[in-house]
Amino acid sequence: MSDAAERLAEVRANIAGAAKRAQREPAGIELIAVSKTHEAAAIRPLIAAGQHHFGENRVQEAAAKWPALRAETPGIVLHLIGQLQSNKAEEAVALFDAIHSVDRSSLVQALAKACAKAGKQPQLFVQVNIGDEEQKGGCAVAALPALLAEARDAGLKIDGLMAIPPATQEPAPYFALLDELAERHGLALRSMGMSGDYETAVMLGATHVRVGTALFGAR
Ligand SMILES: *Cc1c(COP(=O)(O)O)cnc(C)c1O
Repeated sequence: MSDAAERLAEVRANIAGAAKRAQREPAGIELIAVSKTHEAAAIRPLIAAGQHHFGENRVQEAAAKWPALRAETPGIVLHLIGQLQSNKAEEAVALFDAIHSVDRSSLVQALAKACAKAGKQPQLFVQVNIGDEEQKGGCAVAALPALLAEARDAGLKIDGLMAIPPATQEPAPYFALLDELAERHGLALRSMGMSGDYETAVMLGATHVRVGTALFGAR
């Protein structure tokens, strides 16, 4: 096995183990390999090992890397996990199968327009600033109901919630809170958990984990 295949097998086994402990079906948990900053040469071994879901945090970088990689392999699913500027909404809708960073009214409006024009909608997650941190992206917890209502009124289907817990704190309570918020609003998907805490996230209801370092090594 290549290094990439070994790391992938290990992460998949860890996800399956966490799912089992929580009496969940591992099949219900999507592993997103976060390939930001990594070049095609580092990504190909993971694709060869059977990984199909990938995450990028910049539209520009993804647009430069992925069209060629996609032409090589059918069935790639591309997730945007980083902040999105409203003026890049059209490009993002064209390029990505899922957007995890819907976090404000202006972006909801830009995405609604872009999706109507494209005649398709990526899977959408509202990013919640789950720790109500000053400088962090995401919609404030208190503003979530209004943003979800606005998205609905604009004709967007929101499929789930995404969050990044405060870096310096125990993540579990924040994962539990995101799960609770998704439940409260009838949303099926929860995008939570990164290299350091994806097993905890799986035990607390993650449907999508976003793992970079544990698959690719340090950036
Ligand atoms: C970079 C990034 C990740 C992956 O982080 P690792 O710690 O390398 O697994 C996950 N989610 C988001 C939003 C990111 O920007």
